Order: sequence, then structure tokens, then C-alpha cells
Amino acid sequence: MIIGIDDTDSRKGMCTTYLCAVLVDELKKYGEVSTPRLVRLNPCIPFKTRGNGAVSFEIRIANGKEAEVKEVIKARVSELSELSEEGTNPGVVFIDNEALNAISRGEKENNSEEMLKNFYEHAVREVLTMEDAYTIISNLHFDYFGLKNKRGIIGALAAAAFSVLQKNKPNYYDFTYELMAYRRKERWGTSRSIDEASVWKADATTYPLTWDTVDVANKKIVFAPHSPCPVLFGIRGDSVDAIYKTYEFIHAEPEERKMLFVTNQGTDFHLIKLEDAEEKLQDYHSYILDGMVSSNPRTIEGGHVVFSISLSEKTLENGISIECIAYEPTKGFRNIIRKLRVGDEITVYGSLKKETINLEKIEVRKLNPVVESNPKCDKCGRSMESAGRLQGYRCKRCGTYRADKDKVIVDRGIEEGLYEVPPVARRHISKPLIRMRMKEVNKEIHPSR
Ligand code: ATP
Repeated sequence: MIIGIDDTDSRKGMCTTYLCAVLVDELKKYGEVSTPRLVRLNPCIPFKTRGNGAVSFEIRIANGKEAEVKEVIKARVSELSELSEEGTNPGVVFIDNEALNAISRGEKENNSEEMLKNFYEHAVREVLTMEDAYTIISNLHFDYFGLKNKRGIIGALAAAAFSVLQKNKPNYYDFTYELMAYRRKERWGTSRSIDEASVWKADATTYPLTWDTVDVANKKIVFAPHSPCPVLFGIRGDSVDAIYKTYEFIHAEPEERKMLFVTNQGTDFHLIKLEDAEEKLQDYHSYILDGMVSSNPRTIEGGHVVFSISLSEKTLENGISIECIAYEPTKGFRNIIRKLRVGDEITVYGSLKKETINLEKIEVRKLNPVVESNPKCDKCGRSMESAGRLQGYRCKRCGTYRADKDKVIVDRGIEEGLYEVPPVARRHISKPLIRMRMKEVNKEIHPSR
């Protein structure tokens, strides 16, 4: 049986991954339990608590015990969920063996695998309704359980779908790992006791097989939350061995338990390449867009940096331009953005909100080395002024005239290639550039660390 769970926590406490870890440990007495999955869904969903995470796992249960296992899960979800918080609406989806077998058998007839694939992919990239989830649950004969308005059913089904798809083909989707350590209950809500020096040492030993443990440029440890939730820290990476090695290095308060998750974190799965999108750009969706810088970057109040790109004809109607923003928390990334100039060919990666792309990465594909400036007067050497629209330039003192701006080839102080926000500002689902080094090697990357 595969079980998906979501929406059990609030900003004030709990964490769905902790509930999952408790269940995985508790259910071992009923049969073998798989490594649980942690999926990050659409990062733009307005009603998410934090990182829009949902979990799932598979358990091989001895016949006749399914009902008992479901009761244990329902009881734990009811007991541990933050039900008094308005935004907490737990949902659980059960895919029992019969339904799982039907999926493998019926693949071609009723397209059940395709339905689950679409649901999971839409949960990461689009905005779904509860109706969408109920339709699949009913068509594929799944069981479910929910509390309050049960919105967690959406995330629970998406997480369960991820487990189903990876069951027979573990490489169905790109994935990484996270080892989560959880605090003892009496410490929840207090500040975390972690020996920082040990974390820096651990990171230095295993990076880049582990990543986003620390942020070197910003001198910050980023693998531990600051919220009252049960998570002590999480170690992310591509290698289970390296993750456990990091774990061994870290000195911290005694933990209650730890759990390894297979996850879609660090994969960029939320990004839609516009060629694939049937419709135009929509808010609450995340994109990869090719374009040309059409206004020079400027810093606005709050330290955010804004510029526009004009989307190339290939991707949208001629002339459409869209604003891009690097928010203040992206720190040093803004210095890269400030170096862009009109005419640079770039690709932007990020989410669309209020018609603005919130930048996660950029690729500088082709720098425009030519900088145009008002011409200098041949006689006095001062800058000439515009003589009016399309009327060239004139020196006020000497009366000299020039038709065009000066064009100077300059060193731009920035190289072509991919740039990213630093670990302090990284979304869970965003792929760190250091992972691209291991996969897509034909691009110049400038990892932020
Ligand atoms: P945490 O990261 O601490 O686990 P969270 O950020 O995951 O919290 P949830 O409490 O899980 O937030 O709330 C997210 C809610 O949004 C859930 O009810 C989930 O079912 C729903 N949801 C997730 N993805 C989508 C989507 N693509 N469309 C519509 N609803 C979604």
C-alpha cells in the first residue's frame, strides 16, 4: 500500500515530514516500509505554510492488516496535526495493493499511470482544485481520509503519485536526498543547539555531493530552520554516503529520530519551458524564458533590483516585455543582475507573480559588448546633447553636430553562463547549479555557495 499525506502543519508547529517519520518508524512492525518521499509542490501556491511539501511511503503489509494500518495512520494524523490552526486541512490518500496492481496491469487501457503522472506534474507546476484530486481518487478506486476542508488531499495524492511512478522506475524523475533530524519534544519551540564549527567542517568535507548546508558568501548556516517546528536540521545532497558522512561530523543537541527522504528538491521540476506551455504566461506558474534585456537594471526601494526583458518572437508575440526582479534577500545575486545591459541575450528562471518574474537563476547567453553613449564634441570634448527625437546630437557651446551615438566596445565585468541566487535565498525545489555540473556539462556555470 502507498500512502500520501499533506497539510498537517502550521507556522506555529509540526511538520508533515515529522509525522511521516513517526509513522514510518511505527509501522515497521506491520511490514517493510520504503524510504519515504518528500515532494515539493507548486512553490507559488498561496495557501502553503512554508515550502509546499507533501510526503508518501510504501508499506508491504501482511494480508488482513490493511485496515489496522489505515486506522493507525488516521489516528496519528488526527492526533499530531495542528487542527486548531485555520490553514491546516489534513489529507491522506491510500493506494492499496489492488489499486496498485490495477495501475500496473491497466496502464494501457485506462491510462492510470498517465493520469497520476499528469496529476503530479500539475501539482508542481499548476494550480489544482480538490475536484481534480477527487476525480482521480474515484476513477482509480483509491481510499482517502481528510480533516476540516481536506485540502491536503491534493498534496497527498501528488506525493502518492510520485511514489507510484518511482516504484518500478526509480529514475522516473530526477531526485535528490534529504536526511532530516528531529528534535526531542521538550525542546520544540526553543532555540536550536548546533555547534556551528562542526557544520562548516562537515560541509567542507562533503560539498558538492551535499549542498545548501551553509552559505559561504553570506557566512550563514542554512540547513536548520528557525521556526518552532520539530526539525533540527536537514542535510541535502546527491549521495547518501556523503549525507551520512556530513551527519557524523555534526555536533548538536540530542535528536529524537532521523529519517532519510528521496525528494524532488533541487531539481527545478517546477519550471515550465514556454515552448511546452499551451497558453500564455500566468501568475502562480514558474518559467524558463528566453529574451533580451530591454531596460537597464535599476535598484528600487528596499534594495530590490528590477529590469525588463523582451521575449523573443519564438516564445511570445513580438515586442512583449516582462519585468524581472531580484529581491533584496537574494543578496550578491543582485550584483550580477546590476551588470546586465540592454541588448544582452539572457534566459531567466523564476515564478510569475503580479506580472513580474521573481528571479531564481539567469543564464547570460550572449553579452552585448557595445555600450552607446552621447557623442563627444570634436572641438571641446564635452558630451553633446540630444537635438530632439531622431534629430541627432549637438554641442550647445560649439554648435557641432553628430547624427549618431558613440558606440564603444567595453569589458562588461561579467562572464557568460549560468548564475543563481545564494543558498540563503534558494527555494527547496530549485536546482543548485553545482548539480548541473554533474549532469549538463555543456554550459558555463557560476555556482553560488
Ligand atoms: P510545510 O512545508 O511546512 O510542510 P506546506 O508549505 O507544505 O507546509 P501545506 O500545509 O502542505 O503547506 O499546505 C499546502 C496546501 O496546498 C495543501 O493543502 C496542498 O494540498 C495544497 N496544494 C499543494 N499544491 C497544490 C497545487 N498545485 N494546487 C492546489 N493546491 C495545492
